[in-house]
Amino acid sequence: MTLLSEALANMAPSATMAMSQKARDMRAQGINVISLAAGEPNFDTPDNIKNAAIAAIDAGKTGYTAVDGIPELKLAISKSFRRNNRLDYTPSQINVSPGGKAVIYNALAATLDPGDEVVIPTPCWVSYPQMVRLLGGTPVTVPCPANNGYRLKAEDLAAHITDKTRWLVLNSPGNPTGTVYERADYAALADVMTAYPNLMILSDEIYEHLDYSGNFISFAQALPQFHDRTLTMNGVSKAYAMTGWRIGYAGGPEWLVKGMAKVMMQTTSNAGSISQWASVEALDGPQDYLIERRAAFRQRRDFVVERLVALEGLRCETPDGAFYAFIPACEAMKHLGIQSDIQLCDRLLTEAHVSVVPGSAFHGPDAFRLSYAADIEILECAMNRMDAFFSRVARP
Ligand code: GLU
Repeated sequence: MTLLSEALANMAPSATMAMSQKARDMRAQGINVISLAAGEPNFDTPDNIKNAAIAAIDAGKTGYTAVDGIPELKLAISKSFRRNNRLDYTPSQINVSPGGKAVIYNALAATLDPGDEVVIPTPCWVSYPQMVRLLGGTPVTVPCPANNGYRLKAEDLAAHITDKTRWLVLNSPGNPTGTVYERADYAALADVMTAYPNLMILSDEIYEHLDYSGNFISFAQALPQFHDRTLTMNGVSKAYAMTGWRIGYAGGPEWLVKGMAKVMMQTTSNAGSISQWASVEALDGPQDYLIERRAAFRQRRDFVVERLVALEGLRCETPDGAFYAFIPACEAMKHLGIQSDIQLCDRLLTEAHVSVVPGSAFHGPDAFRLSYAADIEILECAMNRMDAFFSRVARP
């Protein structure tokens, strides 16, 4: 017997986290598993950022802080929004939470009532629909096929939006497909959004610095008329290689930011003080390595896509951003006699010792997601293993 809540029972566990854990467990048993499951840059946090954290510890900046972020970090975030996106957010319009996930959760917790709907284009990151469920809301997923670059079309939004819709979640560059919305893609959605004045837009831009197309634009920059009902979410995890520091942030209307702080007051309190000081340095310090790292990710993307399209039974569009390849695997599954992408990923793990995440966890079934945020040598080894696996499948 367990005494867990119904809301928790309605929520699926995170497949990205679960697959990474499976890889860790197998490694602990001495099996040489290559984990391309979680999206985590393999670069180290830059030294200037580490030193800022050490200086914060030495200076005794180790107590509670303002619940939704120290003023210095809010100012650095405000400057960063202006520098990168030409967006004006005053410090009172900024929230700092313990990780990007917490930003999203706090925003949803501050706004959703039971039965409220959240429109989520799919394939989507595993956690959006599950957070909505945990909070008693209803995720309304909208399939966005590869032939439109996995982007949401106005007619599909119109077909899924109702008077109960509180949020539309957009994510560009996107996880898991790497799709990048251009200004025109956003503009095409404007009429539908205008017709629903109570609709809020959550624009998850955590992969902002990993755009290889040159077309990335922040949602509220593209459509300034929606600035007051947009929460622009970002964080230091991906660009600055700070996943473990747990700092996410967002800019949005003051009423929402205040609501999010109220949630934090009774739940987490502030994000870690030391991580916040380190993030000030991340955002205010030198930025030139972002370009070098983007170039490295791009090289890895090109390498991985070239190898993937040569594998039997797989397809793969070249992703424009983030560090994931999303790989429809219908044909390979048919050859293998495999019924589901979950089974495919299990076999890849146990037979090829490569850990990837089933597409169904992203509402993109019969596919899998691979993170190429790894050294090229590791990626090469993973591709060789997958090559052997899929060749065996095709030619038993
Ligand atoms: N967001 C990353 C991913 O999709 C990290 C793991 C997670 O938070 O889901 O892999």
